[in-house]
Amino acid sequence: MPSLQQYSTFGLNTSCTSIQSFSDVDSFLSLYKNTDVCYLLGGGSNSIFTETFEGTVLVNEIKGISHFDDENSHFLRVGAGENWHELVKLCMQNEWFGFENLALIPGSVGASPIQNIGAYGLEVDTLIQTIEAVVLSTGEKILLKNEDCQFGYRDSVFKHALANKVLITHVNFVLPKVYDLNTAYGELAALTNPTPHDIYHKVIEVRKSKLPDPAILGNSGSFFKNPIVTHDHFKTIADQYEHVPHFTVETKSADDSVKIPAAWLIDQAGFKGKTLNDVRCHPTQPLVLTNLGDANGSDVLSMARDIIASVSDRFNIKLEPEVRLLGSKGLISL
Ligand SMILES: Cc1cc2nc3c(=O)[nH]c(=O)nc-3n(C[C@H](O)[C@H](O)[C@H](O)COP(=O)(O)OP(=O)(O)OC[C@H]3O[C@@H](n4cnc5c(N)ncnc54)[C@H](O)[C@@H]3O)c2cc1C
Repeated sequence: MPSLQQYSTFGLNTSCTSIQSFSDVDSFLSLYKNTDVCYLLGGGSNSIFTETFEGTVLVNEIKGISHFDDENSHFLRVGAGENWHELVKLCMQNEWFGFENLALIPGSVGASPIQNIGAYGLEVDTLIQTIEAVVLSTGEKILLKNEDCQFGYRDSVFKHALANKVLITHVNFVLPKVYDLNTAYGELAALTNPTPHDIYHKVIEVRKSKLPDPAILGNSGSFFKNPIVTHDHFKTIADQYEHVPHFTVETKSADDSVKIPAAWLIDQAGFKGKTLNDVRCHPTQPLVLTNLGDANGSDVLSMARDIIASVSDRFNIKLEPEVRLLGSKGLISL
């Protein structure tokens, strides 16, 4: 059975029935119709195969970037198999600005809308115009407008009504020529009159200093989402703990409105730096679980479940995974 170790940035030594890649829709459809169980994969930076996957992994390598502009905006049509950071780099080189806060996020362009990737105060949905996809069951090509995608915090229609129902083939971005730089968040706020290039370089510098490089230490970035709680719930926590970090956020429900960094909750629950065999909760960023070299899937799941239980006992908050976890038959939940 082929190894999946190189296909997931967490790098567990697991395998699957078969791995096939495709670079156009026709070859995808002929592969797809010959598989019973399959999993679509981009760069594998949000997917952890915790045990042998009894199915075919289909790796998206649809490439191609085209650009045109008008008086107001740059427009990009990008193949889903393009690398996200390479796209950001290309845009910076050409002075097509807007992506700079999202520099150095691993993975493919096609996966970027799935969890609506975000960093340093920007989420990708603000730059997406339309998404081209293929319906898996029929092979029909569809075009989704931004508003069809129901984007939210690490969320989209591709995790709900369209989960496992479509292959994203291209993402169409629009980058307005006049826009406000997004500098409200963290270390970016300290920059004086920054240019988009200053933001791009700062984001890269900060990310490199805080996050483990998956090429050196296996990981999938943030393991959990930052929970959003009601004001009342937040107040009960703030009454017991001094200086609880938090952000007020707008949500569809007026009640749910305070985001608490999951990293702080995990740290308070005592997991920062903790190890379980070869799985470690990262010492400088406890939201990240790492593979010290020979981690196995059951240890990853055990540590994740322990963290969820401890944070729940202490704060009455149920952490939700941001990563996609796979068992032998497909996606699993914690
Ligand atoms: C070090 C590190 C830092 C990270 N930092 C961030 C961050 O700052 N912000 C952030 O939001 N995320 C972050 N991530 C998570 C990750 O980079 C993103 O989720 C990224 O979009 C995943 O892309 P991928 O191609 O690797 O996805 P994969 O893991 O290959 O796939 C993710 C999901 O998308 C589905 N999928 C993939 N491609 C397609 C397609 N073409 N059509 C339909 N479904 C598809 C897969 O089936 C799977 O369910 C980080 C990860 C790492 C390792």
